[in-house]
Amino acid sequence: MNRLDKPGRAVFLDKDGTLIVDIPYNVDPASITLAPGAPEGLARLHKAGYRLVVISNQSGVARGRFAAEALVPVESRLRELLAEVGVPLAGFYFCPHHPEGSVPEYATTCDCRKPKPGMLILAAEELGIDLSRSWFIGDILNDVEAGHRAGCRSVLLDVGNETEWVAGPDRTPDFTASDLLQAANLILQADASLASNPPTGARA
Ligand SMILES: [Zn+2]
Repeated sequence: MNRLDKPGRAVFLDKDGTLIVDIPYNVDPASITLAPGAPEGLARLHKAGYRLVVISNQSGVARGRFAAEALVPVESRLRELLAEVGVPLAGFYFCPHHPEGSVPEYATTCDCRKPKPGMLILAAEELGIDLSRSWFIGDILNDVEAGHRAGCRSVLLDVGNETEWVAGPDRTPDFTASDLLQAANLILQADASLASNPPTGARA
């Protein structure tokens, strides 16, 4: 049996404020820069066998700030910046919706906008990912909740982007980190100790 037959582990990544420096509603590829710690952190996760998948709310589409097509060059630039540091992206998913949007086609309640887990569930189906062995890294609690509702563990990047701290089920991160490098190290340590000390009843 090919090892690729086994569903893989992934680290899902929020985009704005997590993977890249946040510039609200930016779709200019030239203005995209990787966040501090991203090159090193993602390289470590990639080498350890995690697939890296972007999961992004892009309500700018529903709000008429930019067209959904504007995200094609954004994805390309992101892949290019990551390729420069030897890191491939396994997937790029975005939600164009917002219930209060101004573009009728996208002004709806959907199953994909975080904190709902729809994009993670779709990515898991399309890419063959085992959500229970996967993680979500994001900079707000809606990312944490989306990850947990999909069955993943989570790391919150506490970089000042969460300002409301609304509590609720599924909104307590497993870990908090100051950047993606620290987040990657926490994930690698947690999974290494899980591998050497599996919980009772865990699958081999
Ligand atoms: Zn959506």
